[in-house]
Order: sequence, then C-alpha cells, then structure tokens
Amino acid sequence: MKLQGTMRINEAGHLEIGGVDTLDLVKEFGTPLWVLDERAFRENCRKLKEAFASAGDSQVIYASKALCTMATCILVKEEGLGLDVVSGGELHTALAVDFPVEKIYFHGNNKTPEEIEMAVKNRVGIIVVDNFYEMELLNRICQREGREQRIILRISPGIEAHTHEYIKTGQIDSKFGFTLPNGQALEAVKRLSDYPSLIYTGLHCHIGSQIFEMESFAHTADVMMAFVAQIREETGLVTTELNLGGGFGIYYYEGDEPVPPEAWVQAVMPCVKEKAAEFGVPVPRVVVEPGRAIVGPAGTTLYTVGSYKDIPGIRKYIAVDGGMGDNPRPALYGSKYEAMLANKANQPPEETVSVAGKCCESGDMLLWDVKLPRVEPGDILAVSATGAYNYAMSMNYNRIPRPAMVLVGNGQADLILKRETYDDLIRNDVVPARLR
Ligand SMILES: *Cc1c(COP(=O)(O)O)cnc(C)c1O
Repeated sequence: MKLQGTMRINEAGHLEIGGVDTLDLVKEFGTPLWVLDERAFRENCRKLKEAFASAGDSQVIYASKALCTMATCILVKEEGLGLDVVSGGELHTALAVDFPVEKIYFHGNNKTPEEIEMAVKNRVGIIVVDNFYEMELLNRICQREGREQRIILRISPGIEAHTHEYIKTGQIDSKFGFTLPNGQALEAVKRLSDYPSLIYTGLHCHIGSQIFEMESFAHTADVMMAFVAQIREETGLVTTELNLGGGFGIYYYEGDEPVPPEAWVQAVMPCVKEKAAEFGVPVPRVVVEPGRAIVGPAGTTLYTVGSYKDIPGIRKYIAVDGGMGDNPRPALYGSKYEAMLANKANQPPEETVSVAGKCCESGDMLLWDVKLPRVEPGDILAVSATGAYNYAMSMNYNRIPRPAMVLVGNGQADLILKRETYDDLIRNDVVPARLR
C-alpha cells in the first residue's frame, strides 16, 4: 500500500496517520473506522487553490457529495474554498456550520420545489440549472419570494472521458444538463429571456470522474468557449463564469497517476484565454469543483480481520468486520484499492488473499489478490484512499451500523461522526397499533 498524506510506519511497526498510531485509534474508537487525515485534506485544498489562483481569476469549490459532514464543511470554509451541494441534506449541513452562502453552488438534475425554495430563501450564491422544467420552477419560486437568483446552466457537451460508464457524465446520452450538440443548450440560453428572475452568470459542465487525461479537460474548455462565443453572438449575453466541473483522478492503485493541479491549470487555462481572444469575448472566471481529489487520498478505513476460508489451489478469503456497507465502490464500480496490515506494517508480504466483507452478498468483496504478511484473526487491515464516496455512499444493508469517523492531526484524534448504534437502526421504525 502506498503511504499517502501523513501516513508513516512508526517505531512499533504500526501504521501511523496524523501522528496517531492506528492501533491506538482502534483501541479507542473500535472498527470499522473511517480515519480522515486533516493535514492531507487541508493541503489538497491549498494546492488546488494556489495552483488556480496563480493562473488568474478562478475559484475552487469542494464537491461536498464526496464526503459531507459538518467537520469537513468547516475545514473547507477555513481553507477558503466554495462548496458544491446537490441536495437539501447537503445544503442543510453547510448551513448548519454557517458556510458562507454566497460561495455555495447548488447542483442536481431533479431539485424538488422544497429544495429550490430552501436554496433561494437562504440566498445560495449560484444555482446550477439542469433542465427546462427546473428553469420554469426556479423562476416561479424566485418571483414568489421576490428574489433574483444568479444561475449557471449545466451543459452536456458531448464529450466522452475515459472512465467508468457510471461515472462519466459529459456524453450526449446522459441524464444531466442541456445537450450542446443538438442545439438544446442554446435554446436554454435563449429561453432565459422569458425568466426575468434568473440572472445568467455562465455555464457548467462536468465530464466525469477519476480522469487522468488532461486532453479531455482541454478539449472541454475549447468546446465550452466556442459556445460562450455563440451565446454572445446570438443573445448578447456575457458569460462571466465557466465551471468546468471536477473529476480529477487520484491514486487508488498501482498505475494510477494523478496529475498535479498545476498541470491541470497549464492544460486548461491557456485554452480558455486563447479562445476568449480568438472569439473576442471576455475571459470568464474559471471554476472547478473537485471532490475526490481533495478528500479521497485523505481517508483510510481500518477493519478487524475475523474469519477466513482457504480453498486450496484456488484462493484464500479473509473477512473483515465491514464491507460494502461502508464502501460500496468495489461492488458498484469494480473499484480497486490497496491495503496493508496496520499492526504488521513492517513485515514482508507472505501470502496473497482476497478480502471479503460481512454482508450476505457474494459481490461484497473489498479487494482481490492483495499481498499481505501472514494474516490472522484480530489483525487490523487498513485500506487507503477511502475518503471519497465511502461514507457518502454508505448504507445499512443487513442492518449493519455505519462506522465512526475520526479526524486525525498533530498527534490528536477527534470523533467527527459517531458510530451508529443498534438503537439508531430502529430509531425510525414504527410499529403500528394493530401490530402491538
Ligand atoms: C461528482 C461531481 C463533482 C465531483 O467529482 P469528483 O470526481 O469527486 O471530483 C463535481 N461536479 C459535479 C457536477 C459532479 O457531479
């Protein structure tokens, strides 16, 4: 397992994160446990922010769907980034920590009237309008509330990035946004003249996730700038903001080669500037909204090894006390991770095992064919790069309570998410009188 962020192997031969021995974390908080490396999280925010700031007018916003808790929203606020929310629940979390509303972007392909009203009443900075139905609805709510709302339009630019089928979003056949190649996007811009409460600010697109090819982003910037020029020509509207989405790839597994933020900036910003000059339009402010690249590498999950099953000549399974409930990505996308034994961190690999979760589902496998020192029940398995889309996508399948999450830094560990209890699991159960 590649050591990321503040990870190191300490004198006791244990994995340490944020200056805290992971075995101490296990003693205090139990397993499974999500561990968030505060310095790694903050540094990822800072590196992105600095890289973009050096290239001109820009803004980095954190796609909170990757991991949205009150503590992470506070870290983002302290680092001065904006926040992207995609639901009333994420917005509520941001409001609960007094996140500056003018820096909140509200996304989503089917925002409910209640969610839109919540966003408008709380004066969210920008609403990313996804479709014609929403445009009409938003305008009506704004009129009722007596408010004007800055918006950007989500565009589906017809670009296919090389990534998993379910995490690519920019192609024509997508549930998201106004389609560019068939003229729908231009029609959307023109129709804005019917909606006086909506203030056109710019465009948004997001071509997918876990992308490593800078050409995909550069090509997107070119296509979007051509559209910016077309909008100017046909409607006179000036695009002051161009949001190019998130999707920067991170290191999960051997072969993944993340591109530093500077390289992204160098690949994309010149395209935007050159095209602006070529078409004679003002250079828009470039906004990016990475989630995974900020929080993914900062997260590690700790599990306790329990049972095992050796099928001679075929495979040895070891099972941990979590699985698809706390990390559905391998089952959902076939995602790969790396792992190590946190309590045998400096022992050489001795056997190849596959790591199963504890759910009643054959697909509940966390890792295949990972080389580890000899594995015994009670060992602590650490899986790296689990910060993004793990807690966020977690579930209670088999009524397994969700793990706790701790924030570690400078030798200190603080709980930021309580472990669910069995009583939490039945909290919303209702037994009607006739069953009593
Ligand atoms: C998911 C998503 C992001 C963040 O994607 P990452 O891969 O986590 O960077 C940003 N913008 C939009 C619109 C998204 O749907």
